[in-house]
Amino acid sequence: MTGTSHLITGTALGLAFISTQHTTPMQVLGATLVCAIASLLPDIDAENSTIKVWVSGKGGTPLTDAIISKRDRNGAIGTLLYALFGGIEFVIRQLLEQLITVVSKVVPHRGPTHYFITSFVVALCITILGLIFAHSSLYGIAFFIGYTAHILGDMCTHSGVTALKPFSANTYYVLPKFLRFKTEAFSLSEGIVVTAVVGISLAIIYL
Ligand SMILES: [Zn+2]
Repeated sequence: MTGTSHLITGTALGLAFISTQHTTPMQVLGATLVCAIASLLPDIDAENSTIKVWVSGKGGTPLTDAIISKRDRNGAIGTLLYALFGGIEFVIRQLLEQLITVVSKVVPHRGPTHYFITSFVVALCITILGLIFAHSSLYGIAFFIGYTAHILGDMCTHSGVTALKPFSANTYYVLPKFLRFKTEAFSLSEGIVVTAVVGISLAIIYL
């Protein structure tokens, strides 16, 4: 599954969950950001993955650009907010760059970063930190949804994922063989999966 599809499906499912919670606008923004990053994070072990390109800074500041439109950047407050979010995005990128450098040296592609247990353990840590510092489990759950959605997305591809390692060495899939798609190029099957996930998410949001 392509990085864009991971981002769309992970964030859509995250937003569906967030919509069921009592949240402030800032919590929605924060949890959406966590979910978006988590939906790309498993591919820090892959060459030329979307998250690696983002972290490298080659694509500018896409998250900040998406949050604050060009029109909103006019005026003092718009400029300040743009600078603030741009700064936050820069710091997150720097931190992730350190993590990527370490992880990509020690793990193979679709290795430990694509195990369900990894998603669970990291989400648990973020939940504990979230409860201590923000009195909310929202961010940990948003992370779990984004990260797990990525693994499930890769399980729709021909190569599948050994998602239950270290408990099982089997490769798992979520689609029948004829519907599975390639990892690198966007296909009709992938489009159907992305549309279905966005549709289900919207249905939950408007329930
Ligand atoms: Zn992946």
